[in-house]
Amino acid sequence: MTLARDTLRAVFGYSDFRPGQGEIVDHVIAGGSGLAVMPTGAGKSMCYQLPALVREGTGIVVSPLIALMQDQVAGLVANGVSAAFLNSTLDRSDAYAIEQQFLRGELDLLYLAPERIMNPRTLDLLGRGSIALLAIDEAHCVSQWGHDFRPEYLQLSELAGRFPETPRLALTATADPRTQQEIMARLGFNDNGGSLFVSGFDRPNIRYLVRERKNPKAQLLAFVRRHSGESGIVYAATRKRVEEFAAYLVEKGVNALPYHAGLPDDTRHENQRRFQADDAVVIVATVAFGMGVDKPDVRFVAHINLPKSIEAYYQETGRAGRDGEPAEAWMAFGLQDLVLLRRFIDESDAPLEQKRLEHERLNTLVNFCESSDCRRRSLLRYFGDPHDGQCGNCDNCISPAETFDATTAAQKALSCIYRTGQQFGVGHLVDVLLGKETEKVERFRHRGLSTFGIGAELSASEWKRLFRQLIAAGFCDVDSQRYNAIALNARSRDLLRGETTFHARKEARPAKKEPTRRRRTVANGSSEPTAAFTLRKPLGPVGAISEGEARELLDEALFDALRKWRTALASKRGVPPYVIFSNRVLKHLAAHKPLSSEELLETPGIGQAKLTQFGPAVLELIRQHST
Ligand code: ADP
Ligand code: ZN
Repeated sequence: MTLARDTLRAVFGYSDFRPGQGEIVDHVIAGGSGLAVMPTGAGKSMCYQLPALVREGTGIVVSPLIALMQDQVAGLVANGVSAAFLNSTLDRSDAYAIEQQFLRGELDLLYLAPERIMNPRTLDLLGRGSIALLAIDEAHCVSQWGHDFRPEYLQLSELAGRFPETPRLALTATADPRTQQEIMARLGFNDNGGSLFVSGFDRPNIRYLVRERKNPKAQLLAFVRRHSGESGIVYAATRKRVEEFAAYLVEKGVNALPYHAGLPDDTRHENQRRFQADDAVVIVATVAFGMGVDKPDVRFVAHINLPKSIEAYYQETGRAGRDGEPAEAWMAFGLQDLVLLRRFIDESDAPLEQKRLEHERLNTLVNFCESSDCRRRSLLRYFGDPHDGQCGNCDNCISPAETFDATTAAQKALSCIYRTGQQFGVGHLVDVLLGKETEKVERFRHRGLSTFGIGAELSASEWKRLFRQLIAAGFCDVDSQRYNAIALNARSRDLLRGETTFHARKEARPAKKEPTRRRRTVANGSSEPTAAFTLRKPLGPVGAISEGEARELLDEALFDALRKWRTALASKRGVPPYVIFSNRVLKHLAAHKPLSSEELLETPGIGQAKLTQFGPAVLELIRQHST
């Protein structure tokens, strides 16, 4: 498919497809339909943008997020592609003008919101123009069991009947095998020979770190400080926590902003805008934040509370490192989260079956947190994507957790649950095990129990950790209907009878072992600790220069100058900086210092249109720095 490749090079400035792209692009250009599941940052957009350019007519893209739509269109226009969107932000006359452009066949790509495309007027409009393909972005929104279900997506199944000859490509970054089948069925791909393309889910540039939550503020601050001068997202469970943690970070000198649905619209939009436009803002947010955010240079995502499920965790952490450069996903979790989330599920109005599923999802996530197996392997297994483990880029691979045979301690814990009547929470159970003379012990006469004071071998926090691991492993249950009382279940019996053993994780060693990222190639304030170990190569997609290479070659003054130039231009044009050039492109320029237009075109990410628009300014800056 040389035409596709030529277009990739001339328009986008990339010399080759990324894994998975070529196959999908060929399929769609040939008129095929299907579902593409690719990890974030893998380059899903290219899978429909390129066929839209190659095929006759306009590519229609259904995308649920207005902000994302606008950024995509801005990025395309910067590459000289004729693209536009129709959404509620446009006034009538602008919308009319775009419709006319479409009808005259002047648009390569037209983005629409899902609720808009199914309205009869839009369908009529589309029927009168020439359509190259229909792309359905964020296709997991069609899944009713998924976490982002959008009712208007269900109607998209009717598109097949309306435009039977037009290739349809659905895309998503998060769908386990069950959800994949659901999307295929709902969008009617099973009936008319649609294909399923699943590229691996691995995000090798993301380092996964999971911590036990002790002093969350101090833990978070230490982590965030490792990323000074960089962008990151901190997720918290509630508005209150968002406010609290944002204020704390600000107090400690971090450039942090809050984001949650309770803030006034203006503030919320402004904070999101600043996060997008700046390259060193930490946003502290509830999960309300992120869907519309497509920022490529987010260097970390931190969770100070457990997310809802593995899927949510994967999606949220997936917002880090879209540019393929090293990024970190850090989470601190505690027993409180588990208890709280269980209660949310139990108290929701969802049907029983859905509650069961949600509990199951939560269990999977807790097992992931408690596991001493390679995080990457556990995560990928969930998506049906086998991995050998030993990734070398997660906490469990970097400093393997020690486990010990905790069968006897676990038996003591379970029999304490039994003796106290299965009606107390972890706090009291631990007091009984340790033989503490508390008011509750007095009131319930627990001093007389055979399990009173039998647990001196572990400390209170060690017992708590053990309970958490027992719950996570399914050896006892939390009853949120009864004040989080811990109750026994069928598996408890196996353990009590000694028919099975229980291995627990030892506490992770103290924070001085905390892995530190490699010092960044570009120094930005030098308070970062130096590296304790190095990242494995290769981390980036084809065309990236390695960190080592960059370190030797990068002209930091030039890089800074390019960044300043980009910031100024971006604010003048009212677009995010990466629409002009990504950091990766700037680093490449600062390392290779191309001196002519021909050499500039060798840079991954610079195609004809960007060469024409930005070439002269960039060459001038390089010249100034080449003495
Ligand atoms: P996704 O939607 O899968 O998260 P995007 O479509 O936003 O990913 O692409 C992520 C980044 O990868 C973008 O900056 C895009 O320009 C870049 N990209 C896409 N295809 C290629 C390619 N073939 N070679 C190099 N970079 C690419
Ligand atoms: Zn690993």
